[in-house]
Amino acid sequence: MKLAHQIAEEVRARHVSVEETVRESLERAERVQADLNAFITIPHDAALARARALDESLAAGETLGPLAGVPIAVKDNICTAGIRTTAGSKSLDTFVPPYSATVVARLEAAGAVVVAKTNLDEFGMGGSGENSAYGFMRNPWDRSKVPGGSSGGSAIAVSAGVVPLALGTDTGGSVRQPAAYTGLIGFKPTYGRLSRYGVVAFASSLDQVGVLCRSSHDLALALDAASGHDPYDATSLDAPPAFGAGLNSSTSLEGLRVGVVQELSGEVNSEEVRAALGRMVGRLESLGAEVGEASLPNAPHGVAAYYLVAPAEASANLARFDAMIYSERHGENRSGQAEVMMRSRGASFGPEVRRRILMGTYALSAGYYDAYYGKALKVRQLIAADFIEAFRDFDLLMTPTAPSTAYPLGKKSDDPLAMYLDDMDAVLANLVGVGAISLPAGIAANGLPCGVQLFAPTLQDERLVEVAAQLEHTSDDTFSPIAPDYA
Ligand code: GLN
Repeated sequence: MKLAHQIAEEVRARHVSVEETVRESLERAERVQADLNAFITIPHDAALARARALDESLAAGETLGPLAGVPIAVKDNICTAGIRTTAGSKSLDTFVPPYSATVVARLEAAGAVVVAKTNLDEFGMGGSGENSAYGFMRNPWDRSKVPGGSSGGSAIAVSAGVVPLALGTDTGGSVRQPAAYTGLIGFKPTYGRLSRYGVVAFASSLDQVGVLCRSSHDLALALDAASGHDPYDATSLDAPPAFGAGLNSSTSLEGLRVGVVQELSGEVNSEEVRAALGRMVGRLESLGAEVGEASLPNAPHGVAAYYLVAPAEASANLARFDAMIYSERHGENRSGQAEVMMRSRGASFGPEVRRRILMGTYALSAGYYDAYYGKALKVRQLIAADFIEAFRDFDLLMTPTAPSTAYPLGKKSDDPLAMYLDDMDAVLANLVGVGAISLPAGIAANGLPCGVQLFAPTLQDERLVEVAAQLEHTSDDTFSPIAPDYA
């Protein structure tokens, strides 16, 4: 699979038709689905119909946008008009949205074609790709390993060469961590830069849409097309995107100050991850960056704060799935509305979602609110203050994306705490609201890809894409390779 900007160029020059491009992508999707369970819906007919319509526009002399004919995959908690959107949950098994999320509509307006809705941990709750009502997913680099989550299907779609570009959502690392486990770029912008209109809410103060891809150029194209103010999202910022502009202007990282977060860079990480961090430091220094030691003293409390704030917000957001408008009804003949709601929710939410609702409801309940939710908000403030302090000395901060590479399927599925702890690095960006990127940091000694994460100050997202571009242009074409079995 070619990169998005290459496809768009060829389509616009009419060297290849959109239909051919989309057909190839759909064929690959079928194979990848059989191997790795990356998709919940492959909208074959809709994708081909749209491809033909785009070809007709081209034939009529119209010019298509910067993503002309580019096949994309969209996480199945992001609404697509006329295409089922399940959020990985039985409760939305038959939900067909009447409208598309703003991010999808904008990418389509730029010429993209949705070829797949990707599998995910139910409602985005998970870090391994094993919590979906539609079955677990496998890592294209090693089918016995998890792909990461919750945007596991989007990561597989790009890493296995089905599409060059995919949308995910990132509430506590769900774009960046699967990107790291599959060797991709995974980007989450500053809170408010990508519209969430049409995105199934998990934890509203943390949720952001993000992009998974293999090239900084593709990332810039997607972000320039999809971001910008959206009047339909009250949290949307009016910050005009300028991602493409930074790509060619900077020729080195001379003078860029990068701080490696000490609290997260030591023994908590596997040997492979520490080696990857070391490689990234070397690469940044060779490009002229000054790499030093940064401190976020409260960062080690990030996971604890996140696993109170996120479930608390989820317990409120998921109240709407009560079988009255959304989700299937169970126990219809029983003794009243409350019991129907209770039975329906019990029947259509998976175990992890039920656990989150219980944790969140408990943390918000009278008598415990101050001790749990209130305290978590204070910790969140302390971490935000740590970031402000650290950004006085550094332009960017660096941590691993996750403490290990992809691990065997089943290893942590019965141990939620172990799974939660893997989010120690990623959740910080969501708690604080800053932009973050996971960059491929080479293949570890165990044969699996490894990611390193950079944080930028609020609204300096463009910087992250510039650094990605520098690293990419100065590495050979192995920066973000397609998984060998699918190349
Ligand atoms: N792994 C985290 C969780 O389970 C992050 C999820 C996400 O970003 N959607 O909550």
